Amino acid sequence: MLIAADDTDSSTWMCTTFLATELVRALPDLDLIGLPRLVRLNPAVPWKTRGNGAICIRMGRGIGQPRLCGRIGERDLFCYARSSEEPDPDEVMARCWPVVERWSQKDASDPGLVVTSRPPRPELYWRAVRVIIDREEAVSTLREAGARTFEINSGRGLIGAAAAAAWRPMDRTYEVLAYRERERWGRDRDVSREDIALLDQRFPSTFNNYEHLADRPAIVPHTTCPVLYGIRGDSPLELVRASASVASEPVDRWMLFITNQGTDDHIITEWDRLVPSSSYLVEGVLETLPATIPGGHVLFAMGTRDGRIDCAAYEPSKGFRDIVRRLRPGDRVQVMGELREAPRTLNIEKLNVLELAPSRVKVSNPSCPACGRRTKSAGRGQGYRCRECGIKGLRAETEEEPRQLSPGWYEPPVCARRHLSKPLKRMGVQSTIVV
Ligand SMILES: [Zn+2]
Repeated sequence: MLIAADDTDSSTWMCTTFLATELVRALPDLDLIGLPRLVRLNPAVPWKTRGNGAICIRMGRGIGQPRLCGRIGERDLFCYARSSEEPDPDEVMARCWPVVERWSQKDASDPGLVVTSRPPRPELYWRAVRVIIDREEAVSTLREAGARTFEINSGRGLIGAAAAAAWRPMDRTYEVLAYRERERWGRDRDVSREDIALLDQRFPSTFNNYEHLADRPAIVPHTTCPVLYGIRGDSPLELVRASASVASEPVDRWMLFITNQGTDDHIITEWDRLVPSSSYLVEGVLETLPATIPGGHVLFAMGTRDGRIDCAAYEPSKGFRDIVRRLRPGDRVQVMGELREAPRTLNIEKLNVLELAPSRVKVSNPSCPACGRRTKSAGRGQGYRCRECGIKGLRAETEEEPRQLSPGWYEPPVCARRHLSKPLKRMGVQSTIVV
């Protein structure tokens, strides 16, 4: 039986993943089948909560080898590969909706809960992670699967819940989440920075742990939510060991999730037209020199097969902007990023420099071909002229600029990355760390 929920949290207080632990706790007579899922959806939707993540757990009667996947209080959690029978969906719904109701921010969210023995069509996931879908589409897909639903307020959360239940992991990663004791919620978190800084070395399959150049942990949230930290990686076994290596305040509970984080599932690679509120892979040639605008954002215009588009590296991407500033007109690049509606910009999540154009920089004013004297500028865009001879329209002397950029992939520092963005480390590409 799949149990999926979304949009139970406001931007500061709750965390939908915590609800997953509460749902497991509310069904102690059932077993987890497979790992709990944390499914991130289209990051470009305008009404997203903090991370736009939905959860889905599968409960049943486990058969086969149990695998440790968490702990709640004194109780170890195990998951099983298969289930011998399906629990009654109405009974599961009757036991789950009060949990969702209790842990929802009812004044600031639109929770949705789905209980279904058949997963909705996988296309629903692919649409929910890439475009904006409405509640009706989710509801009709759920009806087709014979799902039970429960909703509060607008029930927008049904969209995410349905999409989480529809996810069939293709590419996937894992995250181990540790939660705080109730009385500490809202207070400063006590987690060893040194241990977090060592995660990359000690557990090479983990990623996005620490901002080494800024000397800042990336796995500890700054909100008042119950999460103590979350470690991401490619190996569930290594994540459990990684979590045990981090000294911290008491961990009230922890749970391992399988997730679509770090997969680039949100990137549309095949398209005819660029429609805002989705993320794309776009190839093109720079038409302008990158320029820094007030606020510290860096923008350039790029010619694409869907016309000219402005690409932006925003201020929080810090040193990544220095890479973008090294681009020159004529460079051929691929940009992955979200297309915003207004202002219409492609927000760069990753950059692949394909080909560098020769770039010439002015070294001096030209000398006059008749008298040999230095010429003066005739005004912006007017070339140079000789005051003595009156010769006009001369061009500056230039030389080829040594390019301070190599072809290849570049990504922003850890804290500026999207949950869904595939880190270069996972692409088998050497990261270029810049801050
Ligand atoms: Zn002259």
